[in-house]
Amino acid sequence: MSRAPATPERAALHQFLARHQRFLLTTHVNPDGDAIGSEVAFARWLRATGKTVRILNDSPTPKAFAWLAEEGPVELFTEPLAETRFAEADALVVIDTGNKQRIGRLAEPLARHAIAVAIVDHHVTHDGFGQVNVIEPQCAAAAVLVHELMREAGAEIDPVSAMALYVGLATDTGNFRYSNTDARALRMAADLVELGVDVSDVTSRVHQSAPPGRLRFFGEALSALEMRHGGQLVVLEATPEQFQRHGLSGADTEGLVDLPRAIEGVEAVALFSEVEPGRVKVSLRSTGRVNIDGVCARLGGGGHPHAAGVMLRGTREQARARVLPDLERLLAELPAAGGQAAPARGAGA
Ligand code: AMP
Ligand code: MN
Ligand code: MN
Repeated sequence: MSRAPATPERAALHQFLARHQRFLLTTHVNPDGDAIGSEVAFARWLRATGKTVRILNDSPTPKAFAWLAEEGPVELFTEPLAETRFAEADALVVIDTGNKQRIGRLAEPLARHAIAVAIVDHHVTHDGFGQVNVIEPQCAAAAVLVHELMREAGAEIDPVSAMALYVGLATDTGNFRYSNTDARALRMAADLVELGVDVSDVTSRVHQSAPPGRLRFFGEALSALEMRHGGQLVVLEATPEQFQRHGLSGADTEGLVDLPRAIEGVEAVALFSEVEPGRVKVSLRSTGRVNIDGVCARLGGGGHPHAAGVMLRGTREQARARVLPDLERLLAELPAAGGQAAPARGAGA
């Protein structure tokens, strides 16, 4: 180990990794750049130490990160494949979520197989279901944790892993624009650039892969945006008909909820995205003064103080009725603009 582990939990994780030989890695449903990037770097790190590693996720990798997932490789859940992967493994590492529900269909085989579990996560809302739980909400991304764990272990960060970690860091910080962008995140970015990451190349791989329908869909959703609460709250909706007509999936809303942050005076944004009839994905964002994770946590979801989500059954109208009054109450409690900011970190996903 080239550096002392920063916490007893991290030391326990290093021991956990040394104790086991055949690892299965997973992350949350509808994985994002941090989920895929952190898994890929983690897998390559363990493999370099002679371990056997597989990555299995509940949901497909968004197209923007497909090039990265190939480096894992990241496998997609089927019942027989999950059965094989759980039978082969002696340990599961869950990355970028600490919430059992959020690993989706892997929860069922996990309940049947006697397998050791470790969590590596940065979410405030978690149930820490591992034997070892390294959960650090102060980290801007799970990739920050993975990077520091690798440094503690004295691991070599090869060019692919550096790129993977960069993707995690850059996506969860909104390309270093959100409130979770701190000195640690920027130092890490500098370290990764020194290791050879080409920022412009990685950024275009991630952000220049959209089909035209996605922008048309953004245009439609944005042109229908509603301003509420004296301009402090923006509400967006996406309908099953729109997803169908543009040939899109739920993952294609990625980034949409962040755009209205640009409007002057906006404190919070809510997106009600009905991918299939009767299932509404709620995404909330705060521009910094209100902490919105509680609104989602009360409904069974969660996230970070400034970026949170929950999946609700029912109509968009019903979802709005469960979310908007709570949000408006939070906004009503705000001091006049220019007042004290809410002390919160971690806006990433
Ligand atoms: P999203 O709006 O999907 O980008 O999610 C924003 C943040 O909320 C991310 O940190 C997610 O991990 C978290 N999140 C989204 N949906 C859920 C959920 N159903 N349960 C717990 N956390 C969630
Ligand atoms: Mn994530
Ligand atoms: Mn994350």
